[in-house]
Amino acid sequence: MPELPEVELASQRLRAVAHHATVTGAAVHHASQRRHLPAAAQRALVNRRIEQVVRRAKVQLLHLSDGAVLEVHFRMTGDWEFTAADTPAPPHTRVSLTLDSGTAVHLVDPRALSVVRRHAPHTFAGIDAGPEPLDDAFTADVLRAALATRRGPIKAVLLDQRVIAGVGNIYAAEALWEARIAPHAPAHSLSRARVARLRDAIVHVLRNAPATRYYERTTSTSTSTSTSTSTNVSVEGDGTAHAWRVYGRTGEACDRCASRLQYVTLAGRGTWWCRRCQR
Ligand SMILES: [Zn+2]
Repeated sequence: MPELPEVELASQRLRAVAHHATVTGAAVHHASQRRHLPAAAQRALVNRRIEQVVRRAKVQLLHLSDGAVLEVHFRMTGDWEFTAADTPAPPHTRVSLTLDSGTAVHLVDPRALSVVRRHAPHTFAGIDAGPEPLDDAFTADVLRAALATRRGPIKAVLLDQRVIAGVGNIYAAEALWEARIAPHAPAHSLSRARVARLRDAIVHVLRNAPATRYYERTTSTSTSTSTSTSTNVSVEGDGTAHAWRVYGRTGEACDRCASRLQYVTLAGRGTWWCRRCQR
């Protein structure tokens, strides 16, 4: 499932091809999308300029010149693919937008769970989510305030989008290992020093995510925008297996203390942790 770093990478890739382009055509290729983006909504996109592409939590928002907003959720397997407008859409394409630049933007999604929705001009109410962990404004004090009233286990609280936007299961587990905090520690009880450590750990794991590192590498070595790579494939195909500290490593030795890593279910989600060095 694309997590925040993957969605951020996807929105950067989309911005590179779609920013300030005008939509010349919109098509829906799958019934599941027609429900969210009916024919009238598709037609309303045409001749609108894409003024802005922004990410909020794991949602991508295309702000259009008429004040409408196109809201895109990748869900489990969504991703962007870009082609020349006059070539056939790739397999599993659910929604396509053609642009006046001659590029077509395709939402490719094998499981067809993604959602693309148009909000009529000036009706978009925003995304209900907590602070963005990749923003400069995400300080230890901000995190402390967000956790102060939460009595649940910290691991479950980190997954609540209203507390912090876009931290998923992998990065929550990794950040807690990094900060040496047990996943079941009550969120509101963490000391100021531990919250500060956790804030740094969240930023660290997200900034070092495979997608982020991939994006930084490709943008620093190339000025052209590849039109054929996809976010997920590129990340997996970049040749470097990402070494998670705990995620998926049940029974393996902890990188810090060599104890066996544990798997537990907490608030309905599986998690991994080190019983010895996470307190
Ligand atoms: Zn350990």
